[in-house]
Amino acid sequence: MSLLEVRDLSVDFATMEGRVHVLNGVSFDVKKGEIVGIVGESGSGKTTLGLAILRLLDIPPAQYLGGSVHFEGNDVLSQEPSNLWHLRGTGMNMVFQESLISLNPVYRVESQINESINALCTSRKVELSKEERGERMLKILQELCLDQPQQVLKKYPHELSGGMRQRVSIAMSIIQTPKLLFLDEPTTGLDSYVQNRILEIIRKLNKEFGISMVLITHDLTVASQICDRIYVMYAGRVVEVGLSKQILERPFHPYSETLLAALPKGFENGPPLPIPQGEPPDLKNLPEGCKFNPRCVYAMDVCKTREPKLIPTSDSGQISCWKYS
Ligand code: SF4
Repeated sequence: MSLLEVRDLSVDFATMEGRVHVLNGVSFDVKKGEIVGIVGESGSGKTTLGLAILRLLDIPPAQYLGGSVHFEGNDVLSQEPSNLWHLRGTGMNMVFQESLISLNPVYRVESQINESINALCTSRKVELSKEERGERMLKILQELCLDQPQQVLKKYPHELSGGMRQRVSIAMSIIQTPKLLFLDEPTTGLDSYVQNRILEIIRKLNKEFGISMVLITHDLTVASQICDRIYVMYAGRVVEVGLSKQILERPFHPYSETLLAALPKGFENGPPLPIPQGEPPDLKNLPEGCKFNPRCVYAMDVCKTREPKLIPTSDSGQISCWKYS
């Protein structure tokens, strides 16, 4: 059985211009011990998918239109809001995008991590002394390769570098020992050295602590470095699923091809990077048929009138494209 099983999840948002379908029939699985990537441009619905699974969307304006989410066999969408804190924290947890915004600017790191320990103590019904809490905080910061953790605990978020803040955010999540961790753009805006360090830490948390992961990113290279499988999303839909090696070396969907073609491959005397044609989709005004058709170089007549369904590929992935139907 999958640790997380999402089926046909559809979510829309009320806006001044009417309702916008942000997720459209998304199905998605995470097995125990897996790292799964969700990849797509801004506006593809990947962050909303994570927030919807964790029931972190404001309702309204968001509304669940249908579908199901099961975590360890338990129906997440039918839970009373008062029960959700059991599920979040020690069950599923999320490291939010942009740690400078997600961390509270007026509290020191120590008191923010202490809040996570409070949540852990409440859900596990245990008491921890001040000394035990201090030891746990230091240990977790050391595990995350933060130098001088004593001093880090005394600092405010703005006094830390981007990579340090990101690790503090990860510490706040994993100190609650979740079984599944969502990481939303954990390496965006970091230089490549810090980026690689964060990826190493994610790998270590997966292998040594057994935490399953969902990596939400626009960067196909980052996803392919650590993910077992990748879901490619476009306009609130999953358009391709595959092993990360396959998606990186031999993507089937034209949109995955476009993402891959836009990756830098060497810098000296290389050709200019191709710029994907067209604009990311406007969810308020999506085209008929395949939602990628205005940007697709392979578009056929059928693509403009009928939306393709997700079908299995020969190597146990899935694809939604008329080229393969
Ligand atoms: Fe392109 Fe048609 Fe495939 Fe859509 S269905 S990606 S328009 S070939």
